[in-house]
Amino acid sequence: MLVRDVTEARAMSERLSDQATHDALTGLINRRELLSRLSRLVDERTANSVDLLFIDLDRFKEINDSFGHAAGDEVLRVIGERLLVWSGERAHASRIGGDEFVVFLVDAPEGEAERVAHDVVMRMRERIETASVRASIRASVGLARYPDAAANADELLRNADAAMYHAKGLGGSRLWGFGKEDAQRLSHRLRLRADLENASATSQFELHYQPQLNLATGCIDGAEALLRWNHPQLGMLAPGDFLEVLLESPAYEATGEWLIHLALRQAAQWQRSGRTRFKVAVNLSAAMIQNSDLAALVSKAAETAGVCASVLDIEVTETAIVSDFLAASRSLAAVRKLGPTVSLDDFGTGYSSLSYLTQLPVDRIKIDKSFVQQLTVDETRRQARAMIEAMVAIARALGMETVAEGVENAEQLAFVRKLGCDAAQGYFIGRPVPAGGIHPYVKMQFGNLATRFSLPHDAATDSR
Ligand code: C2E
Ligand code: CA
Ligand code: CA
Repeated sequence: MLVRDVTEARAMSERLSDQATHDALTGLINRRELLSRLSRLVDERTANSVDLLFIDLDRFKEINDSFGHAAGDEVLRVIGERLLVWSGERAHASRIGGDEFVVFLVDAPEGEAERVAHDVVMRMRERIETASVRASIRASVGLARYPDAAANADELLRNADAAMYHAKGLGGSRLWGFGKEDAQRLSHRLRLRADLENASATSQFELHYQPQLNLATGCIDGAEALLRWNHPQLGMLAPGDFLEVLLESPAYEATGEWLIHLALRQAAQWQRSGRTRFKVAVNLSAAMIQNSDLAALVSKAAETAGVCASVLDIEVTETAIVSDFLAASRSLAAVRKLGPTVSLDDFGTGYSSLSYLTQLPVDRIKIDKSFVQQLTVDETRRQARAMIEAMVAIARALGMETVAEGVENAEQLAFVRKLGCDAAQGYFIGRPVPAGGIHPYVKMQFGNLATRFSLPHDAATDSR
């Protein structure tokens, strides 16, 4: 009797300790256990080297959304099993969060971790078929090595995470090894993050405006507001330098509100100078779009500015919409009822599904600048033409307009006009400038463009 009790107690205590150190779903070690092992190996210097792979599944949310959470769990379980096999006996595998895994190798010969990581990326693409799911999974993997790329366990994990993030930014389903440049980029990001917290949310932000040319009238009839950070030490920064940091920061919500208010105040000012219906476009992040209060925010900002909300155009990317299709389309539909139009930004670069397009409350599509630029490169000219023509045709069929982005020269302008785009934007028409540099309804002067590139007369000549 006593013997049985003791055995049971031992089994129970083993189960409990297992629960404390292992992930119930996959049986891999959990985050806590990972950290404690890393700390032993790295911080207490019991290992000569540790290679750490940070693995994050790409677009895993879509699996949960389309097949349900139970199916999502099943996929995670399968991946956990496979990871153990792929990474070999010498590796330790852990699940540290929803769809995030870590594999680490201790004292592995140089190059081995890279081979394992590469293998993980490639073999992750093998189809998963279980009772309830059939799916193709992709993963982004970041790799960092102690002591070369990190001084302690925290840093090792953080740097592998940053490398994974970079791999994702490059399109996903790939490997990125953390190097010197990454260290610089990371410390730059950390600095900007700290600066953001110190600067009161918007006092250093500005909006610059880029003119939009109506190709039917040849007039500038709108402008896109683009965010700039006038940094006290680093000077004027464009979104490419800080947007990622800003979007992750608690300051973003305030910035988003500020931006809508400011853009509408600017629109009101242009109206007071007699330029009625001059449109102002703002770029909104996924979080802003999915926010159910967006309509209330827009309506309040328009009222405060004393301008009709219909002067506003809201630019959204497909990725922002697709990440929560229902919330985004609901909120955009509500905003549109108040008057603003909606433009689909960077069209042709995301995972656009045409069926999405028919379901979306969208008024125009902005053809991404990569297509416009390919128009004047010999090798890509023909495809670019065909793509733009197709996008214009689809837009027309759905009752939408098209804006060509990134027009940098006369030839591109003539082309997009000829291909049927309704509007154009780009350095050739005007660079982003402070509001004072925008002249609403001015008719553009493009000299002898009409004769050189057979541009229809009205868009190419000055008739004032
Ligand atoms: P976007 O919405 O596609 O904006 C157009 C970007 O292309 C701008 O870069 C603009 O300066 C640049 N551009 C315009 N014409 C040309 C051209 O002819 N050639 C080339 N090569 N580039 C041209 P910018 O201002 O650096 O903004 C980059 C991106 O940051 C924007 O891309 C937009 O996605 C995002 N962004 C800008 N402002 C905001 C904002 O207020 N909120 C949010 N969430 N995102 C913003
Ligand atoms: Ca935009
Ligand atoms: Ca764009």
